[in-house]
Amino acid sequence: EKQKLAHVVNLPSMSTDGKTITFSANISSIKEMDIALACGAQGVGLFRTEFLYMDRKYFPQEEEQFEIYRTVAEKMQGAPLVVRTLDIGGDKQLDYFQLAEENNPFLGYRAIRISLARPDLFKTQLRAILRASFFGPVKIMYPLITSLEEVRAANRILDEVKQELMEQQIPFDTSIPVGVMIEVPAAVMLADFLAEEVDFFSIGTNDLLQFTLAVDRMNEQIAHLYEPFHPALLRMIKITVEAAKRANIPVSVCGELAGHPWALPIWLALDVDSLSMSAHSILPVKNRLLYTSQQESKAIMEQMLACRTSEEIKAILSSFQVVID
Ligand code: PEP
Ligand code: MG
Repeated sequence: EKQKLAHVVNLPSMSTDGKTITFSANISSIKEMDIALACGAQGVGLFRTEFLYMDRKYFPQEEEQFEIYRTVAEKMQGAPLVVRTLDIGGDKQLDYFQLAEENNPFLGYRAIRISLARPDLFKTQLRAILRASFFGPVKIMYPLITSLEEVRAANRILDEVKQELMEQQIPFDTSIPVGVMIEVPAAVMLADFLAEEVDFFSIGTNDLLQFTLAVDRMNEQIAHLYEPFHPALLRMIKITVEAAKRANIPVSVCGELAGHPWALPIWLALDVDSLSMSAHSILPVKNRLLYTSQQESKAIMEQMLACRTSEEIKAILSSFQVVID
């Protein structure tokens, strides 16, 4: 299978009728970066930085973070690197940072909420990311955004950090793009407003599905309800992509659904710019793209949007699967 797809690495990632989609990798370490490059990733669409903070005894200092971000940025050789700021809490805990027990950790003290409550930690990370931006096209992405206030508060802290770096004459990309994860229904409903204040969107389908369906993504008892082809999620995605398009900002998808073999017609129909997924999904999905038409995808998207159940949507997608020789 792997060998069969090897030739796909060097082909342009284009549909049969010429729509290009950029394939990026989700990574959480330098090691995964090497695998991503081998799989033909054209960038890193999601660097989950929380793994830098896990399995250790204290918070990583600026220098240590900077070295890692810079190494990844340099390995990219000019391809973009999206660094997501710390997304701990929820299912991800740190031994040295005791968070209170919570009844609903996924709805709790996590992600951007911690960064805004602990500007000391946030600033250290932002400094490290900004410094790395001197070594390649780095972008910053905030997780779990639910309001414009959060974006503005985070950007105020970012501006302070930029100011400090400037005063210290430490070089960085002064126009570093700043984007947000769209992974909470509130962000979808505000997507048109958010799009005016950020440089890009990345749809996190894992959390967006969890919150849209009120299905805990870690709870095995209800795992059968965690249905990515639910019509409500399809609508959420459509609203988000259309808001980005209207505001003329790029939109990508970085949740698990991006790499799902059936989902490609959805991205093609909506004209999504890029997909970010685990490295091993890149070539299989890219190979599908080579055999799929955007125009046909748009036609079946019309049918899917009229579906009232996930079973109907899945029936359409499964019968649409292109034959790959
Ligand atoms: C998501 O929520 O879809 C996502 C990509 O982030 P994570 O899985 O790290 O929460
Ligand atoms: Mg998430």
